[in-house]
Amino acid sequence: MAPEHVDYPNSTRYEQSSNNYFTQQQRGFRPACYVRPHNATEVSVIMKILVQNNATFNVKSGGFSRFAGASSINGGVLIDLSRMNSIKTVMDGSSTMVGPAARYYDIYRIWDDTEYVGFAPKNSDLTVAGYVLGCGFSFIPHNAGFACDDVFNFEVVSAKGEILRVNRREHKELFSAIRGGGGSSFGIITRFHIARFSCKKAWWQHLLFPASMNEDLMKVYAHMAKKVLGYDLTSHSFLMSTYSEFHGDYVTEVHLVTEGIDTEHHHHMPALAKPFQLLPGALRNITEANGEANFTTTFSEPAGFRRSAWSTSVGVDRPKFLAEILSNWQALDKKLKNLPNQKGFRSELEFQPVSERLLWNTQRSRHNALRLPASMGPMIFVLLSVQWADSAFDDIMDAECKRFIDQIDETAKIIDQYCGFIHMNYAHPSQDFWGRLSPKSYDRLMATAKKYDPDRALNRLWRGYFKFDEIEG
Ligand SMILES: Cc1cc2nc3c(=O)[nH]c(=O)nc-3n(C[C@H](O)[C@H](O)[C@H](O)COP(=O)(O)OP(=O)(O)OC[C@H]3O[C@@H](n4cnc5c(N)ncnc54)[C@H](O)[C@@H]3O)c2cc1C
Repeated sequence: MAPEHVDYPNSTRYEQSSNNYFTQQQRGFRPACYVRPHNATEVSVIMKILVQNNATFNVKSGGFSRFAGASSINGGVLIDLSRMNSIKTVMDGSSTMVGPAARYYDIYRIWDDTEYVGFAPKNSDLTVAGYVLGCGFSFIPHNAGFACDDVFNFEVVSAKGEILRVNRREHKELFSAIRGGGGSSFGIITRFHIARFSCKKAWWQHLLFPASMNEDLMKVYAHMAKKVLGYDLTSHSFLMSTYSEFHGDYVTEVHLVTEGIDTEHHHHMPALAKPFQLLPGALRNITEANGEANFTTTFSEPAGFRRSAWSTSVGVDRPKFLAEILSNWQALDKKLKNLPNQKGFRSELEFQPVSERLLWNTQRSRHNALRLPASMGPMIFVLLSVQWADSAFDDIMDAECKRFIDQIDETAKIIDQYCGFIHMNYAHPSQDFWGRLSPKSYDRLMATAKKYDPDRALNRLWRGYFKFDEIEG
């Protein structure tokens, strides 16, 4: 590799790179150097050198992971894949090939000019690698599975530095492992080939309700999550609870999305939207036909804060319990916001429904690291995100958020609404993601890692997050 591809401390590019992480926790780390490959061949050379020299390293695609050391490192080598951000659509438009650091906004801009979409996040600042490898939850309908299930071909650089084509026929155990098994355990992914499906412009409805309506709202939301999303495969929804400065109170946003209807000629409201329209008292009620690029920019969040996220999952049979979770979150938000000298604080609670059908689809392909049984659905992923400015509050943030999530789990167990799955992309490092998988899924991942990395070099040398095995030594 040419020397200009490696940046050492005190150079301008090195200092710029340290600030190129989403959270303050990640920015605090100082690698020995940043190395910036352009392609899989260069990644392979780097991998061989690092493994031969027993050198610790970490890999960064977008640097959006929130916690310290997730894609940063102190003292070791940081492989920064930011140059590998190409986006190529195949001739017939049915799939897109992207580099690990391709940004979703740029991908959406291309997709929006066609009649195809693929699975992607609601915040279009994100890049592909970490999002997909951590399973990837999308606002796009339930007819395929998670975002990882929609990638049908990967290019992977293994611990030995081999460049592998990985799909359902070639290296199929590895194919399953990286679909949801996280980064940093199996190899560096240098290309993702994403399937797309045909769709006219998406139909969106954005509703905003005062939090005082949460009990009624949760009856409608739980019914939609349990029944409607089970058969309406072209729709999806997510819900976010926040404090609105504008309204001076807590509010609950409901977003409804339907793909696949011709929005220019179809004037009927999709079935999932009707019950929400019957609820009086919405503070906002907007319907639009729009492309993903425009819509997703509204979910951008500022970089440079301290942040953490926590996740759990619950059943949908008890709307009152869902309303109670929202009200407990308000109490948490008030408590943390009002701590003396607190600055820049913001928190948000999100519900992402997961239908039985979605899980059944991930099972059907039999190539997914998680292998969640369809019987776990329908459920709701409960995702807590917190933002603050001062490291003096780190411990109290962790303690209070943990208490909040533990309380959800405890109550859910008592009322038979506990699902137990943790969504890796929103998990806190103290949460036992792997312990919640079935032993069979875990053993399968272990066998795959041993097959592709018999010396367990990646286990020993790659820092990073949610490695499926403890770092030995
Ligand atoms: C504001 C915000 C909104 C979000 N919204 C969503 C959402 O809607 N849905 C959702 O599912 N998630 C969401 N997330 C979570 C996000 O998907 C994860 O934080 C993800 O890990 C970020 O991806 P990244 O490419 O920036 O990863 P990085 O931080 O660069 O890396 C994450 C991990 O993956 C490893 N890694 C990086 N690149 C590679 C590679 N090419 N090959 C192998 N391993 C690699 C790293 O070593 C590290 O361990 C959101 C996060 C934020 C901050």
